[in-house]
Amino acid sequence: MARVYNFSAGPAVLPEEVLKEAAEEMLDYRGTGMSVMEMSHRSKAFETIINEAEADLRDLLQIPDNYKVLFLQGGASLVFASVPMNLMKNRKAGYILTGQWAKKAFAEAKIYGEAVELASSADETFSYIPDCSDLPITEDMDYVYICENNTIYGTKYHTLPNTKGKILVSDVSSCFLSEPMDVTKYGMIYAGVQKNVGPAGVQIVIIREDLLTDDVLPGTPTMMKYKIHADNASLYNTPPAYGIYICGKVFKWLKKMGGLSAMKEYNEKKAKVLYDYLDESKLFKGTVRKEDRSLMNVPFVTGDSELDAKFVKEAKEAGFENLKGHRTVGGMRASIYNAMPIEGVEKLVEFMKKFEKENLK
Ligand SMILES: *Cc1c(COP(=O)(O)O)cnc(C)c1O
Repeated sequence: MARVYNFSAGPAVLPEEVLKEAAEEMLDYRGTGMSVMEMSHRSKAFETIINEAEADLRDLLQIPDNYKVLFLQGGASLVFASVPMNLMKNRKAGYILTGQWAKKAFAEAKIYGEAVELASSADETFSYIPDCSDLPITEDMDYVYICENNTIYGTKYHTLPNTKGKILVSDVSSCFLSEPMDVTKYGMIYAGVQKNVGPAGVQIVIIREDLLTDDVLPGTPTMMKYKIHADNASLYNTPPAYGIYICGKVFKWLKKMGGLSAMKEYNEKKAKVLYDYLDESKLFKGTVRKEDRSLMNVPFVTGDSELDAKFVKEAKEAGFENLKGHRTVGGMRASIYNAMPIEGVEKLVEFMKKFEKENLK
């Protein structure tokens, strides 16, 4: 068995320990004589799995009692629609455009109401986070929407926008559980888990209780009403059961690693190895404004697309997978999520140094 260093942006690397444990439990989950994949979502065994997953997540993020945790399906992209359906009471909301995922959410919201662009970093290919201290937020807006970590461009909000009292809705798909967050600052947080937490197919929504009402936009499908899922503790219909089970194991792994403060420290140490090298390299350079850099997704370029392609190819041959940048931006991107060990980043930097020596003209 040979495992590679997988720098994929998502689906992405998971803790090896979690995968091994799941393999051990594959045929017979703790004496039930069946796999979690084969089990009723209404069984005692699964009830324990989902309840423990929620309790551990609450513990990790210190989620207050007045927030509900939902385990749903449909990917982060379905939330682009369910956010306006559930929250756009006045049919007006503000969006900050910091990349492709924010733009997609913005376009989706326009189907349901007036989505207003509050700020954007499109002018410099989304390489920075715009100043959000005094945005043109109006009284009639239902919420302010952000994509907190921009997976494709490698930026992250290190200060949350001043929403002037409006509800903040945040897509945290690619930074979820990479560091502590103050849940009370948000009305709703959501993440597709395939970036940093688990297998594709699960989407986690953390939403303040008072936002859960039957007053949703006309035509909202039952499956997209957050209140229905909250009232049924994520078991209104069959949830993505196996994925929730793996997420639960990742939550336990995170607790064992020391929780989110320890994870943040580790992620900072890891990212520093790569950023420090990018800052001194004469061949490679990072594409993001320093103060807005993400700890999770690190895009970089040589400035020569042929050389970029050569790098990606040779890196793959050396066991570093998925370093090609997103198809819309080119270059390279190393996603260094929680489960990427620091050795993976150190070895990548060693490889980059060697490549630089061989290819610097
Ligand atoms: C990947 C990603 C999405 C889209 O996720 P899907 O589950 O494929 O719909 C949305 N937002 C962010 C920040 C992402 O990284």
